[in-house]
Amino acid sequence: MPTPQLATFTLGGVHPPGHKDLSCTVPIEALPLPELLTIPLLQHFGAPADPVVAAKQVVAEGDLLGAAPKGLGAPVHAPVAGTVKRVTTVPHPVLGKVRGVLLEPDPAAAPRAYAPLDWESRTPQELLARIREAGVVGMGGAGFPTHVKLSPPPDLTVDTLLINGVECESYVTADHRVMLERSADLVAGVRMLLRVLGLERKGRAVIGIENNKPDAIEAVGRAIAADPAVARDGLDMSVLPLAVKYPQGSEKQLIEAATGRRVPAGALPAHVGCVVQNVGTAVAVYEACGLGRNLTHRVVTLTGRGVARPANLLCPVGTPLSVLVEHVGGLSDAAVKVVQGGPMMGFALADLSYTVTKQSNGFLFLTREETDLSDFGPCIRCGRCLAACPMGLMPNEISIYMERERFEGTDRFGLWDCFECGSCAFVCPAKRPLVQFIRVAKLKLRQKG
Ligand code: SF4
Ligand code: SF4
Repeated sequence: MPTPQLATFTLGGVHPPGHKDLSCTVPIEALPLPELLTIPLLQHFGAPADPVVAAKQVVAEGDLLGAAPKGLGAPVHAPVAGTVKRVTTVPHPVLGKVRGVLLEPDPAAAPRAYAPLDWESRTPQELLARIREAGVVGMGGAGFPTHVKLSPPPDLTVDTLLINGVECESYVTADHRVMLERSADLVAGVRMLLRVLGLERKGRAVIGIENNKPDAIEAVGRAIAADPAVARDGLDMSVLPLAVKYPQGSEKQLIEAATGRRVPAGALPAHVGCVVQNVGTAVAVYEACGLGRNLTHRVVTLTGRGVARPANLLCPVGTPLSVLVEHVGGLSDAAVKVVQGGPMMGFALADLSYTVTKQSNGFLFLTREETDLSDFGPCIRCGRCLAACPMGLMPNEISIYMERERFEGTDRFGLWDCFECGSCAFVCPAKRPLVQFIRVAKLKLRQKG
C-alpha cells in the first residue's frame, strides 16, 4: 500500500540538517539553584515590565518583580525566594541592555508547594485573567503575551486551536522533551485553552507535530486517550503528524499545513478561524490555571558540538548562560560561536553574560565545522532564494538594493512580509547574508518613519 502523504505547507521551504540526535533523547534535568539570578524585565514581545521591587527587598517564590506595562506586555515574577540585590540594567540579546532585577536566591527557603486548583469551575474570563497575571507568553521563542493571542477580535469566528509541536529549527529539542515528559499536562493545558476560546463544544484542537518525532506523536496521542475529561466533555482534540519541512513552526505555515487555510498578508490567524499556541505555552497555561503557578521557569536545550554534554535543562528565568555551561561540563576548545535559538532564526551572542528568559528555547555552541565563516559573493541570479521563500518574496532584490544603500526601494519586494526565517540565506550558493540585509532594511525604513 502506498504511504499516505503527510500534510505540509505549499510555498517554498527547506530541509536543513536536524542535528536533534545530540539532545532529543536526553531527559529534562532540573538545574541546581544558581547563586545569582539576572532577571530581565523584558522577556516578551511588547514593552518592558515596570519594576515594583527595590534593593534589599525580600521576596517569596512567585512574587511580582515587574508589573505588566500599559499596552502590550507581561509581568515578571521571582522564580525563587530571595533578596533583591539591585534593580539595574542587564544584557539583552537584541536590544543590548534592558532594565532587570538581580536576585540572590535564599538556599534555605523551602520551594513553594503548588496544589491542584478547581479550574473547571472557572469562567473563560477568569482563566484568561489568570494567564495574564501569571505572565504567560509564547514559549516557542517569540514571547507574544498569551492573553492577547487568546483575545481575537470579537467580530472574527475562531473554530480551531492549533497547538504547535513542530519545533522545526535544527538542534533545539526542548519542545520535543516537553511533549514526551509533560504530555498529560499539555493535554490539560489544551483543555483550558479550549475553554478560554469558547471552543469546548463548537471547535477543535489540533496538535501539529512533525513526523521526525514519532515518540512525541505517540505520547501526546496516548495522553489524549488517557484523559477521561476529553471523552466526558466530547472534546475534539487530535494529533496531526506533519511532513518535515522548515519553517513549518511559523504560524502561517502551520495553519496552512494543518487546515489548508492561507492567512492573507497583514491578517491575523483569527481571520482564517485559527489561534496558534506552542506546546510549552499550553503547559505554562496548565501550571498557571491548574496549579496557580506563575511562569518563572522554562526548558532550555543546550547543544551543539561545542558543548561538553548536550542537555535539556529546566531553569529559572534569569539563570546566566555561564552557569548552564558550567553545569554541563564546559565548552570544548572547538567552540567558536554561540547562538540563542536555532541556527536559522537565532541570534549570535557576544559572550556568556546573557541569561535564560521566557523566550530562550535553546543555546547552541557551534564548532568551526558547524559554522560557515566564509565571505559572501555577488548575487548570481540563480533564483534559489525565490524558490525557498515560504512567503513568495524577493530577498535577492532586497540584498542588491541594500548593497547600493537604496533601502527606500526595498519594501516593493515584500520586506514587511518577511518573518526572517532564513530559508533564502540557507540555499544561497553565494552565501549572501540575506536576513541581515532584510533586518537592516527594516531598521533603516523604521528610522525614516
Ligand atoms: S527570511 Fe524572509 S525573504 Fe528569506 S525566505 Fe524567510 S520570509 Fe522569505
Ligand atoms: S540564492 Fe543568492 S545568488 Fe541566488 S538569486 Fe538568491 S541571492 Fe542571488
